[in-house]
Amino acid sequence: TERSLVLIKPDGVARGNIGEIIGRIERKGLTFAAIELKTVSEDLAGSHYAEHKEKPFFGSLIEFITSGPVVAAVVEGPRAIAAFRQLAGGTDPVEKAVPGSIRGDLALETGENLVHGSDSAESAQREIALWFPNLASS
Ligand code: ATP
Repeated sequence: TERSLVLIKPDGVARGNIGEIIGRIERKGLTFAAIELKTVSEDLAGSHYAEHKEKPFFGSLIEFITSGPVVAAVVEGPRAIAAFRQLAGGTDPVEKAVPGSIRGDLALETGENLVHGSDSAESAQREIALWFPNLASS
C-alpha cells in the first residue's frame, strides 16, 4: 500500500466541491489515513511549493493557496500516488485534464485547478511530513 498527500485547494473549498472530490476518491477505492480543514501559513505554502520558487507564477501560487482554507488529506491504497493523479487529471484543466477527471470535469484555469496530489514517493513522504508531522509513517 502507498500514501499520497492530497489537497483540495481554496477554490474547491469555496466552490463547495469538498464532497464531490472526496466522493470520487472513495469511489476509486482509496481510503483516508488523515483529513483536516486547514488555513495555510505563508511558511507552509512556501515549503510545500519550494520546487517552484523560481517560477514566474510562484507569487500568485502562494497568494492563492493561502487565500482560504484547504482540505489536507493523506490518501491510502495500492498505487495511491498514481491513482489520485489519474483522478485529478493533468495540470491544465482544459488542455491536459481529460473529461472524467476532477480537473477535466470541474475546472477551467491552471492557477485554480482544485486539487493537488503528490507526484512521486519522495514527494509524498516529504509532503506528508510537512502537512501531518504527527502521523506515523508506514
Ligand atoms: P499540483 O502540484 O498542485 O498537484 P501539478 O503537479 O499538476 O499540480 P505542478 O507543475 O507541480 O502541477 O504545478 C503546481 C501548481 O502550480 C499547479 O497545480 C498550478 O496550480 C500551479 N501552476 C503550474 N503551472 C502554472 C502556470 N503556468 N500558471 C499558473 N499556475 C501554475
